[in-house]
Amino acid sequence: MADYDVVIIGGGPGGYVAAIRASQLGLKTAVIEKEHMGGICLNWGCIPTKALLRTSEINHLLHSLDAYGFKAEKVSFDFKKIVERSRSVANQLASGVRHLMKKNKVTVIEGTAQIKGRSGPEIEVIVDGKTSIKSPHVILATGARARELPGLEADGKLVWTYKEAMVPEKMPGSLLIVGSGAIGIEFASFYRLMGAEVTVVEVLDQILPVEDKEISALARKSFEKQGIKIHTKATVKSLKKNKDSVIATIEGGGKAQEIIVDRVILAVGIVGNIENLGLEKTKIKTEKGHIVTNEWCATDEPGIYAIGDVAAGPWLAHKASHEGVLCVEKIKGLKSTHPLKKTNIPGCTYSYPQIASVGLTEEAAKSTGKYDVKVGRFPYLANGKAIAMGETEGLVKTVFDGKTGELLGAHMVGAEVTELIQGFCLAKTLEATEQEIMDTIFPHPTLSEMMHESVLDAFGRVIHF
Ligand SMILES: Cc1cc2nc3c(=O)[nH]c(=O)nc-3n(C[C@H](O)[C@H](O)[C@H](O)COP(=O)(O)OP(=O)(O)OC[C@H]3O[C@@H](n4cnc5c(N)ncnc54)[C@H](O)[C@@H]3O)c2cc1C
Repeated sequence: MADYDVVIIGGGPGGYVAAIRASQLGLKTAVIEKEHMGGICLNWGCIPTKALLRTSEINHLLHSLDAYGFKAEKVSFDFKKIVERSRSVANQLASGVRHLMKKNKVTVIEGTAQIKGRSGPEIEVIVDGKTSIKSPHVILATGARARELPGLEADGKLVWTYKEAMVPEKMPGSLLIVGSGAIGIEFASFYRLMGAEVTVVEVLDQILPVEDKEISALARKSFEKQGIKIHTKATVKSLKKNKDSVIATIEGGGKAQEIIVDRVILAVGIVGNIENLGLEKTKIKTEKGHIVTNEWCATDEPGIYAIGDVAAGPWLAHKASHEGVLCVEKIKGLKSTHPLKKTNIPGCTYSYPQIASVGLTEEAAKSTGKYDVKVGRFPYLANGKAIAMGETEGLVKTVFDGKTGELLGAHMVGAEVTELIQGFCLAKTLEATEQEIMDTIFPHPTLSEMMHESVLDAFGRVIHF
């Protein structure tokens, strides 16, 4: 006999959101978590990094006070306090999740879970090798961890993953960041704005490789202006460790060079936590370190589902949560639920400047050969609010299909774009046409007016540029 209607392994933004939705739908639900409720996102990912980035933005502002008519001398910071604040923000959020579990009557079981096997319609899960729990539905939400490259392994002291990079004992004077995805770029931005010498190495030909080329190039220009050294089409060939520094050999463009840095941050992607889950006792398939699922998050083993970072990308918290909801709604048999449309998932990088996007890049839209691609652009330096804020670097770019008026993608770099992008996400969900967006009234003066102007520009109607 089943103990629960749904058992969820992992209490990150995939697992805990799935649990709340399951409980709302009247399903008796348990979440098994081996470490902290809230997962990587709340404890070691999205939230603590944003607390750090807020600090570095303030530091940047404090060093630009002159432009706003202030005078302040000898501004300094206490790095220990900065890290403590980030940890306390993370703890506050994680304890909020424990409260939500209680409020929603979800049973939280502390321990490491593994699938033992099945008897008829029930799947048996074992916690810490002793407690047996049976349920017809098991959702795997075990997340992922930092990827390591052969020869470039993290040691937690001189060579860090994101975990050590978030809680250093002292501020490093110089850093090498390997990988320029969102995580690498956020750390580059944080440490640079706090005063460190930062070098970023990216194997591909642009930083933030999933972003639109033009947006990525503008972001690069801005980071380089701030003093970040960026090597694209380059690799780190070796890391030689000294007592308190590392000599890195960087190879690119047929040349090799050595740099000495205090610390190295590896940000070369993630691998799914698929080990020791008992997958070998099931029909579940994995591909490149992640569990293969269908559009409803179902694996090849009936009754077992996978959501979030342990499944296919993009590996983002909001994607994990969305999958949690749709997976549980499908289990419940709700007719109103829809499979996830990957082109509607926004991606954000909370660096300075910020980068945000949704849907197809200009290059991707053109390469399909299906669309009459129309592109609109509006620069920050022509927007009243941006000028008033003193934030004139940036661009809002939109990509449309001229034949149907469909918004294919939106790509932005500049202040607050991670908040603005949601307007375009809503437009995509509602399948708004270019005409409907052009007919929408945007408040003045706001940064959001650039979204309007960018769409107007795509159709030859831009006003303020
Ligand atoms: C530095 C950093 C910054 C990030 N910033 C952002 C951001 O700004 N925005 C964004 O969208 N995403 C961000 N991410 C990614 C985001 O954190 C992940 O996409 C998200 O946490 C995935 O959620 P999840 O529920 O799939 O897994 P996780 O959050 O990884 O949670 C999985 C949980 O499962 C538990 N677990 C694993 N195995 C077992 C087991 N056998 N038994 C019991 N429990 C188990 C783990 O302890 C963990 O708590 C960031 C990631 C990092 C590293």
